Amino acid sequence: MKIKIAIIGSGPSAFYTAQYLLKEEGKYEIDIIEKLFSPFGLVRYGVSPDHQNTKNVIRVFNRTLNNENVEFFGDVEVNNSPSIDDLVNLYDATVVTTGMAIDRPININGTDKIGFYGATEFVNWYNGHPEYENLNPDLNTDTAIIIGNGNVAIDCARLLVRTKKEMENSDITQYASKALFNSPIKKVYIIGRRGPLDSKFTTVEIREMGELLDCDSILSKGTLKTIDSNLLNEELPKQYKILTNFPEKKHKDSKKVKTVEFLFYSSPIELLGDDKLKSVKFRNNLSEDNKIFTIKSGLIITAIGYLGDKIKGIKTDKSGMIIHNNNKIKDRLFTAGWVARGPSGVIGTNKHDGANVAKQIFNSIKSKNSPGRVGLKNLLNNINKRYISKEDWMLINEEEINRGKGTLPRIKFTSHYEVYKFIDNHK
Ligand code: NAP
Repeated sequence: MKIKIAIIGSGPSAFYTAQYLLKEEGKYEIDIIEKLFSPFGLVRYGVSPDHQNTKNVIRVFNRTLNNENVEFFGDVEVNNSPSIDDLVNLYDATVVTTGMAIDRPININGTDKIGFYGATEFVNWYNGHPEYENLNPDLNTDTAIIIGNGNVAIDCARLLVRTKKEMENSDITQYASKALFNSPIKKVYIIGRRGPLDSKFTTVEIREMGELLDCDSILSKGTLKTIDSNLLNEELPKQYKILTNFPEKKHKDSKKVKTVEFLFYSSPIELLGDDKLKSVKFRNNLSEDNKIFTIKSGLIITAIGYLGDKIKGIKTDKSGMIIHNNNKIKDRLFTAGWVARGPSGVIGTNKHDGANVAKQIFNSIKSKNSPGRVGLKNLLNNINKRYISKEDWMLINEEEINRGKGTLPRIKFTSHYEVYKFIDNHK
C-alpha cells in the first residue's frame, strides 16, 4: 500500500520535497495541489522573464511531475474546501509549501495613489500571473523609483530599462512588453535605506546592471565618500566591488538613453500628488538633521520583502511564516520553503528543506490506508469543483510553447477562463 502524500503549493520547495520522496521508488503517491492552473510557483511568476537560464530548473521539476506516482490538482485553493483538516484526514502526510507572496507594506502616507505598486504586483503582472493580468501599472512618467536593495528591486529596475533586443528571448507577457516599451521612463532610482555595503544584491545581478544595452548604472553623487576608504581598498566581496565601481555620473561620451541611479541612506516618508503620484518625499538617514528632499516621479515600486498569506487552521507569526519545529507543524503535517523559512535564498536553497521534510516522512509516516487521491477527487466532485489535472497541464504547456512559434520560449495563458476554454476545445 502506497503512502499518500499531499503537497500544497507547487513551487521549488514542493518539487524538491517530491523529488526526495520519489527516491524511495514506488513507495509514495504524491498529489501536488496548487491554487493556480499552472505549476512551478515562483519560477513561473517570480523569476524574471529575461532570466531563462534560471527557469531551466523547470526541466528538473518536470521529471518529478511526469513520474507516474505524481498527480497535479491545479486551480484548487486549500482554505475552506478542501481545508487543511480535510487533507490531513485524507492523506498519510501533508506538506505546506505555499511560499510568501504578499508585499511587505511600507507604512507611509499616499500609497493609495495611482503609480504606487508593490513588487509582487509588478512582477506578477509582467510574468502573467492570472490575478494580476489587469494591473495595468501606470508607466507614463519619465522617472521611476524602486525602494529596496535586494535582487527583486534590481529585477524591477532592469525590466524598466531593457531594450526590445534584450527581451527577445524572454517569456514576458505580450501586454507587459508593449506597455514597457511604450513607456517614456528614462531614469530609474534604486533606493536603499542603508549604505551600498549593506545592500543584498548578488554578484550576477549587479554585474548585469553594468552591461545593459541602452542604460548606464551610476552611484548617487557623494556615495563613495560615505564609505571608509580602507574598506574600499580592501578585498571587498565581488558584488560590492562592482557596485562601488559604478561611476558617479554618466560618461560624457555615453550614447545610452537610460540611467539607473543607486541612491543610498534614504527612506521614503510620503507620496505626494492628487489621485496620481507626482513626487516622493524622502529623508536622508545619514545626515544629522535628517535632511528632507523630494524626487519627481509618477511610479514607485516597493521591493522590501514579503509576507505569507493566512491558511485557515495553521498558526503563523506576524509575517505570515508558519510556526513549526524543524519543518514539522504537528503530527502528519509539515512545511517547507519560504513560508517555513522566510523569503530569502535562491531556488536551490529549498533543496535542504525538501530533503529534511522527506527524511522525516520517511522515518515517521506509515500507510494508514488513507484514501489520498481518490478521496480528494471525491471531495472536489461533491462540491462541483473543476480542477486542472496533470494531463490538462501538459496540453496547456504544449500550447504555450507552440504559441511561442519557436522564437519565444512560450506565450503564457494568463487567465483561468482562457485555460478552461482551451481545455474544453481540446478534449
Ligand atoms: P531581500 O534580499 O531581503 O531585500 C530586501 C530589501 O528591502 C533590503 O534591502 C531591505 O533593507 C529593504 N527593506 C526592507 N524593509 C524596508 C523598508 N521599510 N524601507 C526600505 N527598505 C526596506 O529581498 P528580495 O529582494 O525581496 O529578495 C528575496 C529573495 O529572493 C532574496 O534571497 C533574493 O536574493 C532572491 N532573489 C533572487 C534573484 C536572483 O537570483 N536573480 C532574483 C530575485 C530574488 P535592509 O537590509 O535595510 O533591511
